[in-house]
Amino acid sequence: MSTEESPYPILAPSEAFYNSVDARQISSCELCGNSHLSPALNLGSHPLCDDLIPLDERRECRSYPIEILYCDVCRTAHQKYQVPKNALFPMSYHYRSRFTRDVLSGMGDLVTQCEQRYGCLAGKKVLDVGCNDGSLMDLFAKRGAVCWGIEPTGAAVDARTKGHVVYNDFFTPVLAEMIVERQGQPDFVVFTNVFAHIENMSSLLASVEALLAPATVLVVENHYLGSIITTGQFDTFYHEHPRTYSATSFQYVARALERKVEHIEFPNRYGGNIRVFIGNSGKTTSRTSDSTSVCDIEEAGFCDGLRELTVRMESWREYKSAEFDALVDAHGPLKAKAFPGRAAILLRLLGVDRETITSVYEKPGSMKVGYYAPGTRIPIKSDDELFAADDLTQPIVNLAWHISSEIKEYLTENGYRGNVVDILDLSSCDSSVLSSSLDHTLLTKHVNTYGK
Ligand SMILES: [Zn+2]
Repeated sequence: MSTEESPYPILAPSEAFYNSVDARQISSCELCGNSHLSPALNLGSHPLCDDLIPLDERRECRSYPIEILYCDVCRTAHQKYQVPKNALFPMSYHYRSRFTRDVLSGMGDLVTQCEQRYGCLAGKKVLDVGCNDGSLMDLFAKRGAVCWGIEPTGAAVDARTKGHVVYNDFFTPVLAEMIVERQGQPDFVVFTNVFAHIENMSSLLASVEALLAPATVLVVENHYLGSIITTGQFDTFYHEHPRTYSATSFQYVARALERKVEHIEFPNRYGGNIRVFIGNSGKTTSRTSDSTSVCDIEEAGFCDGLRELTVRMESWREYKSAEFDALVDAHGPLKAKAFPGRAAILLRLLGVDRETITSVYEKPGSMKVGYYAPGTRIPIKSDDELFAADDLTQPIVNLAWHISSEIKEYLTENGYRGNVVDILDLSSCDSSVLSSSLDHTLLTKHVNTYGK
């Protein structure tokens, strides 16, 4: 795991900037045009997950509502209020792919799948949209592919430092056309955990279309709405995800591009992703046909499943608040490990601040160190401080609950012996609160079957 400092200077947006940025409200489905969207989940108002305030600044984060609308035609979940991209992804954006083992192993698997399905990658042209620090391009380049990336945030500098060619801009039809003019049409256009991050669906599709040669393969990997519902991951609905996709959604994406979904699979990464290969070959794998028909049955229950998340969230809030109160009574204020952006949602829902969690610790070199967790005065510090403490036996809260085993192994490897308490652990939530309208068993079996 790399621990080098990012060379990029921190130029965080100002309070005046955030105050000038308002969310756009949608009233119809951005993918299929359906104007009858169903209210599905309301998480209240939250700070932006990457609005990290330096420890010497007193400003407060601006909050924006999180309300999810569901389209029962193309089975896509939408943020009702969409925060503009320049507020969500400023140059100072702090996330870097290289710090999460789960992300890197998922990327390795994606590259292997591309090679197995479409042959040797040597000399193939790969465009990574939202390439962050170039971690995925590193892996494609190792197989001999010729890569270039698009990245609107300061992470582009990290990728360039490694020698990658990166366009430091947002993905637009104009940029796509310029890339084709300069580099030609790519053999692969890849989005990993990015397709859900891009606002304005029609512009996104037009940008993709501008890149495609007849033989170009579009590879998209994202959170799967079915996994989010079955595993209760309501915290994935943060502002950076204007849309969350089902398998049906990608049939609509393919249709809009006049292509076909050639293959679909469900990697385990991040608690359950969907990975689709969209192309023009006219071939689809038998697994894709099976998967599509199973998904069609299961995805019919998604609207009810989304609404059940409210019940699960309330149940979680009640038992987790009680658990934290008991831990603080017994041990005093707690330490916490890792700050994935989505944790800002959970901290706000629990109303947790420094009285409960004194500090949260991130890997040395993380650009999040030296800031407050959004919406709180909980400082983010380096793991070096955590592991240098005299007592490594106190309980510790894991804010990166979705990669719980990775965090637990890492703490153990570094000598931490205290009990690790995941901030969200829906397996301990009372399942009797759930209705039977969505067949969770069937969907879970399907994800396990088709997941690798
Ligand atoms: Zn729709």
